[in-house]
Amino acid sequence: MNYDYLVVGHGLAGAILTCFLEKSGKTVLVFDVPKANAASRVAAGLINPVAGKRFAKSWQVDAFLPAAAAFYQEMEARYQTPLFHRKPILKLFSTPEEQNNWMGKSTNSAWDGYIETTHLQLPPSEYVHQELGGLLIQQGGYVALRTFLQRREEDLQQRGLLRLDAFDLAQVELLPEGVRYQGVQARKIIFCEGARGAQNPFFSWLPFSLNKGEILDINVPDFEAPYIYNKAVYVVPLGQSQYRIGATYNWREVNEQPTQEAREELTSKTQDILKKPFTVTAQYVGIRPAVRDRKPLVGLHPVHRQVAIFNGMGSKGVLMAPLLAQQFIAALEQEALLWPEVDIARYQSLFSASTSNT
Ligand SMILES: Cc1cc2nc3c(=O)[nH]c(=O)nc-3n(C[C@H](O)[C@H](O)[C@H](O)COP(=O)(O)OP(=O)(O)OC[C@H]3O[C@@H](n4cnc5c(N)ncnc54)[C@H](O)[C@@H]3O)c2cc1C
Repeated sequence: MNYDYLVVGHGLAGAILTCFLEKSGKTVLVFDVPKANAASRVAAGLINPVAGKRFAKSWQVDAFLPAAAAFYQEMEARYQTPLFHRKPILKLFSTPEEQNNWMGKSTNSAWDGYIETTHLQLPPSEYVHQELGGLLIQQGGYVALRTFLQRREEDLQQRGLLRLDAFDLAQVELLPEGVRYQGVQARKIIFCEGARGAQNPFFSWLPFSLNKGEILDINVPDFEAPYIYNKAVYVVPLGQSQYRIGATYNWREVNEQPTQEAREELTSKTQDILKKPFTVTAQYVGIRPAVRDRKPLVGLHPVHRQVAIFNGMGSKGVLMAPLLAQQFIAALEQEALLWPEVDIARYQSLFSASTSNT
């Protein structure tokens, strides 16, 4: 059997790439071990145009956001399921310095369309510590990633295009114009393995900087929040008094064990936001496929041009993957160049060093 592409990994990266490959008329066969704690299955799925503690505009958000919104809306229509839950994000201020900082920034026209209002004060609330006011951020929300992945899996399975198997690299044959794997031939193979990509011998020279993230689901009786709240953690309303709290970042112990320490950290930070008692109903752990320079890893292997990677989405995969997938396909079909910031060619010197050591 011949395909245009083999895709290994069906988390957010592989799933979105596969959608766009199919949309551009390519044939694809996908391999995935559907791990319950793959990053895409535990993530809160947030899209936030404001990034980090210093409140910078998220990198390339003006380009990423319209592409992401259009993609998730298209998937909603195709699968008749709500996926992109748009909700304003209320970034609560912790100190008067934060207030001042934002009053200065929010007048900058670069924020037009993203900042609805800067509140120096908010009325006392029965539910939320909001006395120091906050910043109301537009165009954010969250994507129901598990639902999206489930729909895509069912769709691919019905068409016989998803193999729920661990992909065995030892069985890959590199051909002059493609690859062969277990009797299947394709022009190219694209690895979308998330954190496991760091162990892939084709790409182990790339500077992954994996980090562990933990997240809680909580129940807050009789509270239906109008916003996603953010102050050190996110409190994401899922409906019916359920909330997702995220997330921790841990670069020291990158394993899949849930910890009491993370549970306490998330609980305590949630108590800084919510006044009401809540019950923790679940705790999840995942590993973010992050990169040293915090930019994705996209492109063709420097030597084996039939082997490619689409990975390194870090903590912004939901926002970035739809546009990056489109750009990557244009590059694969030789219609366009990748942004140099995401192209793995930026790490050519690491590749050269790795080959000279062997
Ligand atoms: C706690 C937490 C919270 C997060 N919150 C957010 C958020 O709010 N917003 C956001 O944008 N991002 C968030 N992220 C980051 C986001 O989850 C990642 O950027 C994204 O999910 C990465 O997707 P991926 O497809 O690259 O990897 P993964 O989700 O890990 O998927 C990889 C898939 O490939 C499969 N696989 C790997 N190797 C093989 C193989 N050899 N054979 C077969 N299958 C294979 C795996 O089993 C898995 O199913 C969060 C991450 C964590 C951990």
